[in-house]
Amino acid sequence: MSDNKKPGSLSLLTSLSLFTRLTHLGRKPHWTGTPDHPGAVVSPPIWRASTHLYPDTAALKQGPKHNEDGRFFYGRRGSPSQWALADALTQLEPGAFGTMLYPSGVAAIAGALLTALRPGDVLLMTDNAYEPSRAIACGLLAEMGIVTRWFDPVDPAAFAAACCDKTRAVLLESPGSLTMEVQDIPALCAAARARGIVSIIDNTWASPLGFTALAHGADISVMSLTKHVGGHSDLMMGSASAGAELYAKLRRTAQQTGQVVSPDDASLALRGLRTIAMRLERETASALAIAAWLEKRPEVARVLCPMLPGSPGHAVWLRDFTGGCGLFSFVLKGKDAAARDAFIDALKLFGIGYSWGGFESLVTPVDPAGLRSATAWPLAGMNKADRFAVRLSIGLEDAGDLIADLEQALVCWNAA
Ligand SMILES: *Cc1c(COP(=O)(O)O)cnc(C)c1O
Repeated sequence: MSDNKKPGSLSLLTSLSLFTRLTHLGRKPHWTGTPDHPGAVVSPPIWRASTHLYPDTAALKQGPKHNEDGRFFYGRRGSPSQWALADALTQLEPGAFGTMLYPSGVAAIAGALLTALRPGDVLLMTDNAYEPSRAIACGLLAEMGIVTRWFDPVDPAAFAAACCDKTRAVLLESPGSLTMEVQDIPALCAAARARGIVSIIDNTWASPLGFTALAHGADISVMSLTKHVGGHSDLMMGSASAGAELYAKLRRTAQQTGQVVSPDDASLALRGLRTIAMRLERETASALAIAAWLEKRPEVARVLCPMLPGSPGHAVWLRDFTGGCGLFSFVLKGKDAAARDAFIDALKLFGIGYSWGGFESLVTPVDPAGLRSATAWPLAGMNKADRFAVRLSIGLEDAGDLIADLEQALVCWNAA
């Protein structure tokens, strides 16, 4: 993973390497100490509070008048536990002025969409968007009179053709959920900006360590912190980072809808963030080794891993990304869903579960057919009989052990 030295960051620490910065982010001395001993402890303590006390009524009355970040007012506006995490995430995203925290990644996506859209507007959404993102569009947004149009993730011309004078926002995701297509984010964001369309990207896969979304033209960068940032499968959280103008709007929507995260979870997420670079580096290396092994197997029709040389999306990934992660999919050759499920059930080292980005490896069956509107599954160029896919989230285990586990499970698939 290379250092993050792209211009635009507000951080005083930008000249230092990523690993050094991750060690220092969010540790302002007045958050980690007392007035007479600033910086007394390493990590910001957990401030569990609904109530912030004022010295007198005059100060109490002043409280609501100053709606500033980092200022005590009421528990919903946070404390150093949440401010430290938000500040660290802002410093990691070049071009960001601020970061809002949400109780889940889905809440962050909803917060960004509700900030950018009003009744009568049209939303464009990449056809490989995370399924709950599609659900917001088909449910809440549709009921509010917001129409969504889906477009082929890898066809900027399809995006341009889908735009109309009512289009106000586009939701991008790259690599997209399940099928992992890589989008030309700079081209799509430039086209959106030229039309006054707010571009929102779900950047959960790469995080700003692997893809600096705002520096590549996106207006709002959303992440599910539940995945890489938490990193230990024990918390739910989301974030949205943006430049000054959109950050102010995100914050207004979030404050009016009462978005708040627990100080305990914020503290856990900040702890996760300290080790994200080394976890992603190791997961990426293991995922690449496993993807390369799978690609050579006769049972595998296609590996959907843009980090793998020769795979779909690799060229754009190489151009725009500085890192990857352990999440990718692959398609089994022929057979049926029962054989695919038998393969998954035979795995001993992979937990079967939704989510990903934890220290432990996970596996899920992938059936994208019902989740697409503008493009088909199997993808263009794939054999129609090859449709039963598997998604792996590679954790910190030994890659050789994981490969041996996959190998014995392929025996079960062959026998099914
Ligand atoms: C998991 C996920 C989310 C949602 O995050 P939660 O924290 O589970 O709400 C959003 N986008 C992508 C790509 C995800 O994988």
